[in-house]
Amino acid sequence: MRDFNQEYSVFQKALGIEDPWYVIDYELNQNDYILDIYLDFRRGSEFVCTHCGHPQAKVHDIVNDDRTWRHLNFWQYQTILHARLPRTKCNLCNKIRTIHVEWSRPGAGFTWFFESELMQLMKEMPVATVARKVGEHDTRLWRVFHYYVDKAMKELDFSNVKRIAIDETSSRRGHEYVTLFVDMDTKLVLFATEGKDANVLKKFSSFLKDHNVEPNNIKEVCSDMSPAFKKGVETEFPEAHITFDKFHVMKLMNEALDQVRRNEQIEQPGLKKTRYLWLKNHKNLNTEQQEKILKLKDTNLKTARAYRLKLSLQEMWTKTERFATLHFNEWYQWATRSQLEPIIKVAQTLKKHEQGILRWFVSKMTNGLLEGINSLVQAAKRKARGYRTTKNFIAMIYATANKLLISVEPHKLG
Ligand SMILES: [Zn+2]
Repeated sequence: MRDFNQEYSVFQKALGIEDPWYVIDYELNQNDYILDIYLDFRRGSEFVCTHCGHPQAKVHDIVNDDRTWRHLNFWQYQTILHARLPRTKCNLCNKIRTIHVEWSRPGAGFTWFFESELMQLMKEMPVATVARKVGEHDTRLWRVFHYYVDKAMKELDFSNVKRIAIDETSSRRGHEYVTLFVDMDTKLVLFATEGKDANVLKKFSSFLKDHNVEPNNIKEVCSDMSPAFKKGVETEFPEAHITFDKFHVMKLMNEALDQVRRNEQIEQPGLKKTRYLWLKNHKNLNTEQQEKILKLKDTNLKTARAYRLKLSLQEMWTKTERFATLHFNEWYQWATRSQLEPIIKVAQTLKKHEQGILRWFVSKMTNGLLEGINSLVQAAKRKARGYRTTKNFIAMIYATANKLLISVEPHKLG
């Protein structure tokens, strides 16, 4: 070991190492670009008992293995701190415990400084890229990421949650799904979980209970017409009214309309190039397209008939609650007598969901806000690239969609 000299005190100051710890030695490995810094504590020092918090516990013995912590790079050198940790024997609680060091989170192999840098990098680039850049395995990075995201999620206030929007998003190329539960009022993703069956509602309900929120606090839920969601809401949230998302209702209507057009284009090949005209909202068409659809819509085409039914359904949302009910039932009569198979089918589906569709006139809830969240989820997917597990993807959703303020504390050594 070298003498205690000027070189050490530079490191000691730069690291912010404080008494009783000091730099005892260092080694610059020029082949592997590693700077190893060895720390020790002054004999006779007292430490905080990690069992009871007594600040003046005496050292009992020293754990023999060398513990290491990755620190910020020293220029091109990876910096590793080394120390053997003392165990204290406390004269208050009488327990023998290994101490916690001040430069790192208990159990973490990184210093606060390094974790803080990792979190910054993971905010800006894909985790796999960060892993390559810093030369660590990505599973170690994900562990750090999870720790801080979980901590930030626990700090969110759930006490006023009462209106929830539910939607699903694909996790990997449409094979697997993640269901999101969003607080309509705060627009926060409260919970996300694998799958899109009725069981996800059960998981959400126990998640709320873990956060001291009674399922009966949930009064309104907005979702698509998935039977699994409907059943789950009815079982788990008996106090909740369901609103079926009107965008989803119109999507089903559009699909039926397009089916009518495709059936008809066999005899009417001219319909082939008109798909857009029927499906787009009138105001989203250019002048030429608008003129064209205005001419088409009053023809004897079956597609035109289906289109008129779509316009009528769309009009329902401009009514007041009372007239909407009337309007819906008239529409239903008309649709079921239309002799257009796809339209009859969709009318029957909507009839079955009438209550939830008309609930919109009270709740005014749609899944529209989830579109904004979904674009953040897609950004999360890019940032989580190569995320290996759905759990990692979900943590990235929380961090990105909720714009979590992740603070690595105490953010300094010593
Ligand atoms: Zn103690």
